[in-house]
Amino acid sequence: MSQHTSEITAPDVVGRLERLARFGADGPGVTRLTYDDAWCDAHRWLAREADSLGLAATSDWAGNLFFHDPALGPGRTDTPVILIGSHLDSVVRGGRYDGAYGTVAGLVVAAASRGLPGLPVVGFVTCEEEDSRFHGGMMGGRSLLGRVGDAELDAVADRDGVTWRQALAAARERGCAAPAGPNGSATAPPFRPALQLELHIEQGPVLEAQRLGLGIVERIAGYRRWIARIEGESSHSGTTPMAMRRDTLTAAAEMILAAERLGREAGEPAVATAGFVRPEPGLFNVVPGACELWLEVRHDRPEALDDLAAGVAERCWEVAQGRGLRLALEEGAAQTPTALSPALADVAARLAQELEIAHRRMTSGAAHDTMIFAQAGIPALLVFVPSRAGVSHSPDEFTSESDLLTGVRFMDALCRRLAEHPPA
Ligand SMILES: [Zn+2]
Repeated sequence: MSQHTSEITAPDVVGRLERLARFGADGPGVTRLTYDDAWCDAHRWLAREADSLGLAATSDWAGNLFFHDPALGPGRTDTPVILIGSHLDSVVRGGRYDGAYGTVAGLVVAAASRGLPGLPVVGFVTCEEEDSRFHGGMMGGRSLLGRVGDAELDAVADRDGVTWRQALAAARERGCAAPAGPNGSATAPPFRPALQLELHIEQGPVLEAQRLGLGIVERIAGYRRWIARIEGESSHSGTTPMAMRRDTLTAAAEMILAAERLGREAGEPAVATAGFVRPEPGLFNVVPGACELWLEVRHDRPEALDDLAAGVAERCWEVAQGRGLRLALEEGAAQTPTALSPALADVAARLAQELEIAHRRMTSGAAHDTMIFAQAGIPALLVFVPSRAGVSHSPDEFTSESDLLTGVRFMDALCRRLAEHPPA
């Protein structure tokens, strides 16, 4: 069992997480947006930590950060490596574990694995996973894999109009990104991933409710979204008889309940959500003549997602037609469900069993960088630890010290096993 024993201690993990949570702690919770001051400070602190652990810290052109054995220089794309890590950015007023936990795990496990036989283990930190600054769609993970086009750098901007290219140039001046290629373009990824691992808090209530230590994620749900604009007629609420109304808000209510019913009927892990509704004009005494409604459905299987989406859209049309209302159903962002590596999930499940850690296989309802690696054809695995009450994207996010430590030690053992015996 010696290959499973690990000297990783609570201060290695919890102490670093606490330190990391101080970058971006000006308001409630953690606010660390890609390339902002807190993010750059955290980035440089992580590089110093890597140095103190005997690792080299290398940034790529986009500010993704890698922790690696100094003997394994960047640009060694002839050597396949195990990549393990997560994201450094947060949502506005987020928690201290989302992303940060997997980032610390990548650092600690890369240090613990240095010099061991087999595939080298390289920690990674992505720069923009939450989409909370640029809304470019996983630009950190995509840039790490060389999947961000030059035009995108100017096409996305934050709420102040600062483009990705401008913000990146400022971060580069602070030493948080490597020189770009000609005309500021992307350069080749510094490492070649043989496989990719991410450790993350669950951000849902399942593991805690079932008293499990680990979740081995097999699939990441995809989603479909719509903005529904319903048009009827505004009229006096006191003088318009019930039978003569063209009320768009009651139509929206029917659509919302239909989506909920279809989501329930589809069974787990299907979910359907109406996240926003805005009736107009929005007064006591006016039947709402227009209404905007945002709907989203998620599922982990492409066909099931298509079926659920088709059902919800069909029901919206039926409701509008039945009430004599006009409907515009605009398709918003979509994400394809992603299967992670079954071979890696099998190795992880076997190891969890050997180490007597209570675990289950599961689907992630939330998107993660791991999805981008899997979509690029790299064998990828996501592992969850419990989140108290499932709360996340909130200052109340919490995972116990023992759960945090179990997760990192497990990933360390998993890396050792995969380094020596990577699945074919
Ligand atoms: Zn996250």
